[in-house]
Amino acid sequence: MSAANRRIQVDLSDQVAVVTGASRGIGKAIAVTLGAAGARVACIARNQEKLQETAHEISAAGGTAAVFACDVTDSAAATQVIEAVVDQWEKIDILVNNAGITRDTLIPRMSDEEWDDVIATNLRSVFLFTRAGIQAMMRKRYGRIINISSVSGIMGNPGQANYSASKAGIIGLTQTVAREIAGRKVTVNAICPGFIATEMTDALGPAVQDEVKKRVPAKRLGEAAEVADAVLYLASESGAYITGQVLTLDGGLTA
Ligand code: NAP
Repeated sequence: MSAANRRIQVDLSDQVAVVTGASRGIGKAIAVTLGAAGARVACIARNQEKLQETAHEISAAGGTAAVFACDVTDSAAATQVIEAVVDQWEKIDILVNNAGITRDTLIPRMSDEEWDDVIATNLRSVFLFTRAGIQAMMRKRYGRIINISSVSGIMGNPGQANYSASKAGIIGLTQTVAREIAGRKVTVNAICPGFIATEMTDALGPAVQDEVKKRVPAKRLGEAAEVADAVLYLASESGAYITGQVLTLDGGLTA
């Protein structure tokens, strides 16, 4: 979807956004959408080459991007990246905690590593980037933190004890930080996508995807651009009085 025919028109000129997991999928769509709306976007993930592709798309849409390759589970790296963004652009208005992984298996077979990797990537990273980024927001008395959780964090999903726990943890973290920081005009919200077409759901294979489509009342997977539009709204001035909320975006799956 090009910037010109977006359904939501938001002006984020002069704003600075940080997006984790911006090298592909939902995070890339979010980064490009925020960039096309005028924000300067710091794109974070491990794959530098893919991040450059995101940055080029942002430039092509008329925006400005910077690339910071790092592992979001690394506390020192999170602090360094946030400091580098503030050094470069003086502030952070929008933080989107989107990086995430799955390591699916039923609980009797789940290894310590499968548990720890998912909790570290999906939940610890949200804590690390929020703790690092919130200082800059508090100084400016303005901010939008948007955390990408999942319907699995609300309803659970067989084979995803690690993933569901991480995504439920994001909801508790979101609600708590929202309460702590609301007086500083910083909002903190979570989005819970259902099944969205990305490499993460490609891994399910066509047979499982067909089953999913039957289960979803909308009879299709969602698009990354649809999640990005929800982020754009929460990041906008119109989202100023929405905080501590969980927005489900799932074609009716949890209805
Ligand atoms: P994806 O295509 O697999 O992309 C995941 C992103 O996270 C990539 O940019 C990846 O970049 C980054 N990432 C993973 N581990 C990282 C690490 N240790 N350090 C830095 N970056 C890391 O997944 P997606 O479908 O776009 O999902 C994005 C988010 O939405 C995730 O939090 C996911 O749980 C959530 N979600 C997705 C769906 C869905 O149906 N797709 C549904 C609900 C929620 P690198 O590999 O380059 O590091």
